[in-house]
Amino acid sequence: MPIYEYEHIEAACSLGPVFEVEQTVREERLRACPACGRPVRKLISRSSFSVPKSNGALKDLGFTKLVKRDNGVYENVTARGTDSRYVHRDRPETLPDLKKTISD
Ligand SMILES: [Zn+2]
Repeated sequence: MPIYEYEHIEAACSLGPVFEVEQTVREERLRACPACGRPVRKLISRSSFSVPKSNGALKDLGFTKLVKRDNGVYENVTARGTDSRYVHRDRPETLPDLKKTISD
């Protein structure tokens, strides 16, 4: 079962400001703390959800991000080395070279 984090909206109780609850995916989110009954809100788990924000961070993680610039034309904002900056849908030679990106 996944573990969800909840935060007390007002004052915390003995569980602390943030506490974890094991719940099934189908279970409804808690609206009140099981210990003190005060209102709580669900947090997006910091451990399982980590979305890199910048193009540089994506690039470091090995992602390729294409941004549509025109009909059939995408800018490769994570271009590496000799990668083409612009990817044209009908020109396969403009696609990033994955063999160079994936070293292991
Ligand atoms: Zn509480």
